[in-house]
Amino acid sequence: MRIGFGYDSHRLVTGRKLILGGVEIPYEKGLAGHSDADVLLHAIMDAIIGALGLGDIGRHFPDTDPAWKDADSIVLLEQVVGLAASRGYSVSWVDTTVIAERPRLSGYIDRMREALSRAGLPGDLVNIKAKTNEGMGFVGRGEGIAAYAVCLLDGKEKA
Ligand code: MG
Repeated sequence: MRIGFGYDSHRLVTGRKLILGGVEIPYEKGLAGHSDADVLLHAIMDAIIGALGLGDIGRHFPDTDPAWKDADSIVLLEQVVGLAASRGYSVSWVDTTVIAERPRLSGYIDRMREALSRAGLPGDLVNIKAKTNEGMGFVGRGEGIAAYAVCLLDGKEKA
């Protein structure tokens, strides 16, 4: 068994779509970033990469690489799940928390889990919790959205 932890945050700006957990969510702002800036998927990917002991998401998908400009993070997640498989590991469980003051995310969680399934990470192995930050800090002021994830990988390192 390997455990991994991931964190990500992105700034909310006008003129961008809000993509969270692979789902487009109607809102007046979206997350700024080189890729689609899906904080939830980035936290999950960092948790998986961390459990593999392979650094972080920036090492695998550098934001200086034009290949990842506006990248669909579902495609990146698919690659990270494949990376785990190539090392002999499968994802046993992922638990996550997304922290956003607005919009309300609870109605989108089932669709996020379906989107994860399409990336090869079965939605029934992923728990997604959505909270606000009670008006405190950058999340509370609506300046950005943050996400945390932990994952457990099961397998045996391939020699
Ligand atoms: Mg990110």
